[in-house]
Amino acid sequence: MRWFLFGSFLYFFTGSVKAQSDSVFIRKIADEIFQHSTAYSNLHTLTKTIGPRLSGSSQTYTAEKWGQEALKQAGAERVYLQKAMIPHWVRGGRAQALLITGKNRQSLAVIALGNSVSTKSGGITAPMILIHDFDELERRKNEIKGKIVFYNHPFDVDFVWTFKAYEEAVPYRAYGASRAAKYGAVGALVRSMSSSTDNFPHTGAMIYNDSFPKIPILAVGLQDADKLAATASSEKDPELFISTNAHALPDTVGYNVIGEWKGSEFPDQFITVGGHLDSWDPAEGAQDDGAGCVHSIEVLRALKAIGYKPKHTIRIVLFTDEENGGRGASAYSSEAKLKNEKHIFALESDAGGFTPREFSFKGNESQVALFRKNLPLFAPYGVTSFIMNGAGADVDPLNDSTGALAAELIPDSQRYFDYHHAGNDVFENVNKRELELGAINMAALIYLVDKYGL
Ligand SMILES: [Zn+2]
Repeated sequence: MRWFLFGSFLYFFTGSVKAQSDSVFIRKIADEIFQHSTAYSNLHTLTKTIGPRLSGSSQTYTAEKWGQEALKQAGAERVYLQKAMIPHWVRGGRAQALLITGKNRQSLAVIALGNSVSTKSGGITAPMILIHDFDELERRKNEIKGKIVFYNHPFDVDFVWTFKAYEEAVPYRAYGASRAAKYGAVGALVRSMSSSTDNFPHTGAMIYNDSFPKIPILAVGLQDADKLAATASSEKDPELFISTNAHALPDTVGYNVIGEWKGSEFPDQFITVGGHLDSWDPAEGAQDDGAGCVHSIEVLRALKAIGYKPKHTIRIVLFTDEENGGRGASAYSSEAKLKNEKHIFALESDAGGFTPREFSFKGNESQVALFRKNLPLFAPYGVTSFIMNGAGADVDPLNDSTGALAAELIPDSQRYFDYHHAGNDVFENVNKRELELGAINMAALIYLVDKYGL
């Protein structure tokens, strides 16, 4: 009995010493990042000197060069590229739309959705039909022919975690065109995936169903979406004019940019940290996902700067083409499987550079349950919970292909969809301190996973 008591005392004593030394080490990470971080200046270069990085655009390649250099600067021992065939869709200039009521014509803030086809040259004019959801589309399928469908499905404000509202609304962006084309629509307009109060239109990927004619689809800013909805109920026979030259070119070559830091004990076991290098084109891709790229690079820089020696090989991956198909993620996960690589953990930051709140995981729940004892170590820097709610889109396939536990940094989500895929996703809308907190929590997580395993 006494031995038992002594044993448990020893256990608690060494346990708390361990936790104490970890909290001291994480404090060192935080001090290093607050005082010497290059995340913010890296983000400035990526956004202001390279700018939008749509798959297949010339900036894709400038960004790849920048990524290689930034990883070398951060201390990567080996930097290399991994090839992926990526889509090459071009916007072909600005889309236009007009609301036509009688003799009045009002210009609308619109942007073509990624993968949309063009309108016929000179644009299309057709009656507008307001549709709130797919159930209504089905009920009114006989009224759709020859019209432009306007999907007005707002974010549900009751979801405090705004990604849930996005998830619920995004099928209208992704599948709205083909669902409307099935009943003879000639074009579509969709309320932007946002809950902001401004009028920026938000682009994003749409997907055609090859069974139906391909019709053009644009997103409209929220103020103009409200105007359209009001007009639909107050005016008789409103019409829309839409015009876009968007079109797809043949697939082209893109690259994941990878920086490696070799492990001292398990060099053949990998921990991945990443973000995606591509972005939509109306702005600079600062929150989405410049922040995730510079977060990941900063994890490497800071851990090296304070003299950490990893046990496992740490890979920083700047993924290509997350936005328009996830081809970079597929290339990474399938090569890992092909080479039979042992991946223990993969973390992505792709939800913005805001104040960190949580880490979300996908994989073996018992691994996360065991790891949960480390949660108090994160609280001083913002992360207060670990949830099992999926991982970043670029690391999720690695969980499927190798069984690695996958995760994502979840920052505060209230402002993310103000900027997501819109013209205001610029460097100025990223806060330096919030960005650095994200890197601190990620570096702390990587340190603990590397030190103790999973
Ligand atoms: Zn993203």
